[in-house]
Amino acid sequence: MSSTAGQVIRCRAAVAWEAGKPLVIEEVEVAPPQAMEVRLQILFTALCHTDVYFWEAKGQTPLFPRIFGHEAGGIVESVGEGVTELKPGDHVLPVFTGECKECRHCKSEESNMCDLLRINTDRGVMLNDGKSRFSIRGQPIYNFLGTSTFSEYTVLHVGSVAKINPAAPLDKVCVLSCGISTGLGATLNVAKPKKGSTVAIFGLGAVGLAMSSTAGQVIRCRAAVAWEAGKPLVIEEVEVAPPQAMEVRLRILFTSLCHTDVYFWEAKGQTPLFPRIFGHEAGGIVESVGEGVTDLQPGDHVLPVFTGECKECRHCKSEESNMCDLLRINTDRGVMLNDGNSRFSIKGQPIYHFLGTSTFSEYTVLHVGSVAKINPAAPLDKVCVLSCGISTGLGATLNVAKPKKGSTVAIFGLGAVGLAAAEGARIAGASRIIGIDLNPKRFDEAKKFGITEFVNPKDYDKPVQEVIAEMTDGGVDRSVECTGNVNAMISAFECVHDGWGVAVLVGVPNKDDAFKTHPVNFLNERTLKGTFFGNYKPRSDLPSVVEKYMNKELEVEKFITHSVPFSEINKAFDYMLQGDGLRCIIRMDA
Ligand code: NAD
Ligand code: ZN
Repeated sequence: MSSTAGQVIRCRAAVAWEAGKPLVIEEVEVAPPQAMEVRLQILFTALCHTDVYFWEAKGQTPLFPRIFGHEAGGIVESVGEGVTELKPGDHVLPVFTGECKECRHCKSEESNMCDLLRINTDRGVMLNDGKSRFSIRGQPIYNFLGTSTFSEYTVLHVGSVAKINPAAPLDKVCVLSCGISTGLGATLNVAKPKKGSTVAIFGLGAVGLAMSSTAGQVIRCRAAVAWEAGKPLVIEEVEVAPPQAMEVRLRILFTSLCHTDVYFWEAKGQTPLFPRIFGHEAGGIVESVGEGVTDLQPGDHVLPVFTGECKECRHCKSEESNMCDLLRINTDRGVMLNDGNSRFSIKGQPIYHFLGTSTFSEYTVLHVGSVAKINPAAPLDKVCVLSCGISTGLGATLNVAKPKKGSTVAIFGLGAVGLAAAEGARIAGASRIIGIDLNPKRFDEAKKFGITEFVNPKDYDKPVQEVIAEMTDGGVDRSVECTGNVNAMISAFECVHDGWGVAVLVGVPNKDDAFKTHPVNFLNERTLKGTFFGNYKPRSDLPSVVEKYMNKELEVEKFITHSVPFSEINKAFDYMLQGDGLRCIIRMDA
């Protein structure tokens, strides 16, 4: 409950006393909202040519003193009687033309010319009582377009206020409340040009330029290109082709670095495929969709995923598997399935994809089956880490190892994936969680993750599986390996208890590694499993992992230890190579 509700608010407003004369910042009184009205705190406002035109008042009915402004973003401060769909704190955009939702126009699919609230440039007062809500020492100051956003507080009819996603940055989306939406809609909703058609735009101001949507066009943008194995990435201008059938082009806003990127960039014993754009842990927004894509549309908030879900194959239809026949992880393919070509190029030279995601680029193209649509209120700078590492570790424990309440779990490798596996053990109610890592720096960080004991194999002169067997009266109930080291994989298997122990491998091994253990270890009723992406199906299950974060069941912030601008992406590689921190967020807009 805001303390100002029901009170007159005194605040600053830019008042136009006369046509064409500079506005004057004055202290004004803003009356409380009456029935069906809302009072907003304006945080950002922009200037549209319509304001300038009526301020100049050339050939118009001059109505002064007046408070102009109609392109803005703000927050509801209080609401008047009868307002049910808005409440204090809602993020909103005021709009110069309203929607009562009751009249013939509002009920028609074709019109937005609301009988009650359609644009009126001559009225300077509120509909309810024919008065202005602004005054200076008793002198009324006229409204403009029912919005008057050049004031710290303003009153509008509820029908002229659009409630928006609170995660949208008001300093950016304020321009959508008039000019940009007007231009965009004029083309998309009214002119409706077909693919491949020719369009003339008269007037290249903000309204005119909003029409040149990027859909169907090649986009030039920055990408971090790996020209050679193990060499620093180079930020280049690349061309990103439009999405083809069943493909989606995303604008990446945040990406992070997972060890799998580093591993294939080092290309030790792997098929080297260069030049390549790495990256698979990220969050972004759909920019455009190719033919046949029906379940995603421009503007959707999404996480790209390195392993896909076609929803048609035996694996996608099985409850037990996420190894989609069409889109399962493939580290060797550097092209798109549709035509066997890459969507990235630099002056005609193709640049290879990685994992079908290539998120180290401001724009990237994916198969629709590798894109999970998520709650638009989820902050992408946090939940981007759920698109690989954290969900992988969590799912490896919760979906595959499945420890019972009160059990003992060993986690090998305390990077982000391993610590997410430890989170899973905590959520499952394990009573002992033993963390194993060669890097003692990891132990401090790991304490925040409910790990109860630490073992550094370097501190012992016998195999770590023997150390763990001694600590646990014969072995742990479950182990999850998140290192990528084959010896750790063997230890993780050999340290589980006979009779019931289950070990789960998550780390990505070297190409010519061989797993060697005595078969009797299996006969003694131990189970060895492996998983990609924690057995989550990306499209069907990932949105619910995001909800775990939104409901505060899963903390994501503690996995994020660094953040760098895109231009410094190589620092993220340094952090990971030095075992410093967990996840580093790479901000694409910086
Ligand atoms: P990371 O580099 O942040 O963490 C790995 C940790 O393992 C480090 O702390 C390192 O010191 C430790 N380690 C290395 N060798 C060890 C050994 N012999 N014994 C004990 N500890 C050892 O990496 P990350 O991003 O957390 O990824 C972990 C592994 O998971 C990588 O191999 C990665 O490729 C793999 N991965 C697999 C999937 C999947 O779906 N299966 C998904 C993501 C990542
Ligand atoms: Zn990964």
